[in-house]
Amino acid sequence: MHAHPPPRPTFAAIDLASLAFNFRSIRAFVGPGIGFMAVIKADAYGHGAVECGKELARLGADWLSVATLEEAVELRDAGIESPILCLGGFYLGQEHYGMGRNVTPAVFTLESAERIHRAAAELGLRAKVHLKIDTGMGRVGIPHRDLPEIADRLAALSNLDIEGAMTHFAAADAPSENDFTETQSRRFYEALDLLRAKGIEPKLTDLANSPGAVAHPASRAGMVRIGGILYGLGRDVLPTAVDSPAIRPVMSLFTRLAQIKAVPAGTSIGYGRTFVTTRPSLIGTVPIGYHDGFPRALSNRGTAIVAGRPVPVAGRVSMDWVTLDLTEVPAAAIGDKVTLIGRDGDACILAEDVAEAAGTISYEITCGIAARVPRRFLRGDSGD
Ligand SMILES: *Cc1c(COP(=O)(O)O)cnc(C)c1O
Repeated sequence: MHAHPPPRPTFAAIDLASLAFNFRSIRAFVGPGIGFMAVIKADAYGHGAVECGKELARLGADWLSVATLEEAVELRDAGIESPILCLGGFYLGQEHYGMGRNVTPAVFTLESAERIHRAAAELGLRAKVHLKIDTGMGRVGIPHRDLPEIADRLAALSNLDIEGAMTHFAAADAPSENDFTETQSRRFYEALDLLRAKGIEPKLTDLANSPGAVAHPASRAGMVRIGGILYGLGRDVLPTAVDSPAIRPVMSLFTRLAQIKAVPAGTSIGYGRTFVTTRPSLIGTVPIGYHDGFPRALSNRGTAIVAGRPVPVAGRVSMDWVTLDLTEVPAAAIGDKVTLIGRDGDACILAEDVAEAAGTISYEITCGIAARVPRRFLRGDSGD
């Protein structure tokens, strides 16, 4: 017997050729001499951090970044040797382990800076850290206003090597907020001046996320931190009116028809009987549900592609099943391919389309594709 049974036919195809295309396209767009941090937190936005991380390291990403120490360790265990920034920092008790695995923490409180300094002193080393400054995001980061008060204490932490300083934009994707984005940049450069006056000289300085790097060229600084557009997520990430790099979707989501039934008009389908056929209909059932990350919000709203034709979700999305109205595709047969994200013939569904129908953003869709859905890594072909 095999350790794993052959899987049901639901899977996410991850096209590493498109990831490579996006990396090269964005790097060329951003221009030479600017460091590239590939953000692969949250399992590379659901695309598979180990495979994507290896590919991005091979392509020449200068840094990889993750949200948690556990995510960083997964990359180290897979043999990835690139510099890794842990955006979530080190929590109490993680310092020795994190330093031992050569993971660089973001530091966003004086308390954590002091804690890492002490842990580094115990190990007899200088810990490299990136100082995160809150210039207006309001989430994590040392408030820029507090910096004058604590800069001396930071400078005195002799077992810290503050090799990086960073800030994060709140609304770089919104042209109506351009003034605020510029204010954030100004506060960041003022913070750097202050740090330098105290003898802290970070050699890496970075502000820009995907919309920052594309729509605010002046924010590229020494390095950019690119997540979403690496995975080809763009329409709900970038402002529409700006020049932007060519990108391609990386994730597709496929399954196959498990059952088809011909039903008369007046038949209710699924929980709550929210869909009732108005004509003799063909209903197809596919093995994917909200536990797989196909949002329940797509009940009677989502779309799939069967035989190159868009077909609507009929009724509620349940935990493990989705029902589709196949009446317009009478030739559909059990076992036929169903595309939930991706292209089939002339029809195409982007993660952005799924997100719009579900009332969210594309990041939440790709991040939300569950561990129950295997990732198949491919180069160029669609994987079915
Ligand atoms: C997630 C994240 C990024 C990447 O943002 P994208 O919009 O996906 O490019 C950059 N910097 C920080 C601090 C982040 O948390």
